[in-house]
Amino acid sequence: MKQVLLPRSMNDLWTMMRDLPDAAVYAGGTDLLVKMRSGLIPPKDLICLERIQALKGVVVHGDRMVILAGTPLSRLLREPAIARHLPVLAKAIACLGSPLIRNMGTIGGNVCTASPAGDTLAPLYALDARVELASETGVRSLPISRFILGPGQTLLETGEILSAIHVEKPHPEAIQHFEKVGRRNALACSLASMAAILRLSDGGIVMAASLAWGSVGPTVITCLEAADWLIGQPLSMDRLTQAAAIVQKAVCPITDIRATADYRRAVAGNLLLRICEQKMGNP
Ligand SMILES: Cc1cc2nc3c(=O)[nH]c(=O)nc-3n(C[C@H](O)[C@H](O)[C@H](O)COP(=O)(O)OP(=O)(O)OC[C@H]3O[C@@H](n4cnc5c(N)ncnc54)[C@H](O)[C@@H]3O)c2cc1C
Repeated sequence: MKQVLLPRSMNDLWTMMRDLPDAAVYAGGTDLLVKMRSGLIPPKDLICLERIQALKGVVVHGDRMVILAGTPLSRLLREPAIARHLPVLAKAIACLGSPLIRNMGTIGGNVCTASPAGDTLAPLYALDARVELASETGVRSLPISRFILGPGQTLLETGEILSAIHVEKPHPEAIQHFEKVGRRNALACSLASMAAILRLSDGGIVMAASLAWGSVGPTVITCLEAADWLIGQPLSMDRLTQAAAIVQKAVCPITDIRATADYRRAVAGNLLLRICEQKMGNP
């Protein structure tokens, strides 16, 4: 490590990024500094976003919500707008790492790390989130599903940062579900996770479904075929079981030290069945 710069404003940030084009930008450092200390990333100058207040908070504009990228995960858990409108994201953050990690780590860092096991990613895909990328010369926006290319790979360009994440509020009565399976309850890297947002008619027919799985492919997997299978039908265990079989064919997990590909595939399908349990009020 050479030097760590701590800009307090966006103007200072752009000046420092211009002066040190090879520096790494980071926020909480819970991914980057760990990799640097273990030698996975060579030491370099660092620019820390932590003191830029303009990158923190949640803004609600009518039906749209803007989550600023430098917001620590623990702060998002305390934001009433997240608890009220985006419980699918709140549930994912609540089981990410530990309180210490959530105090340091940010949502922007989780997205830019682009790990298939990143816990906020499946909810953000299910919410159809867009990422806002800012540079000294302007801002561009693109769907998160286009931004993330693969493990650790994004479309972030030199001179750009992730400034915010934009989502539309789901229908107030939508079912929002997130579940992660790990090898233990706390501080567990996910073996498979699923985020689901479903809207039912008064008669229990699925009107809309958005489903996304983490840790079962190089990026988050959204299975439109499974969602289509549910839409227009009553939400039943039978229908979910058939959709689960579709999902198990769509995912492409790997075997690693934590779990086999077959186990992950089975869990990906089973996670879908849990929606029915949630609907009936079981934990
Ligand atoms: C013990 C431990 C447990 C963990 N458990 C989990 C877990 O259960 N689930 C999980 O998903 N993750 C987990 N993590 C990973 C990590 O904590 C999260 O990914 C966290 O959200 C990263 O945020 P950060 O701000 O610390 O990222 P940083 O380390 O600051 O940055 C990560 C990467 O993103 C880039 N970056 C950060 N912010 C921006 C930005 N605004 N614009 C452009 N680039 C940016 C950095 O250059 C770097 O490449 C764990 C980490 C540790 C050490």
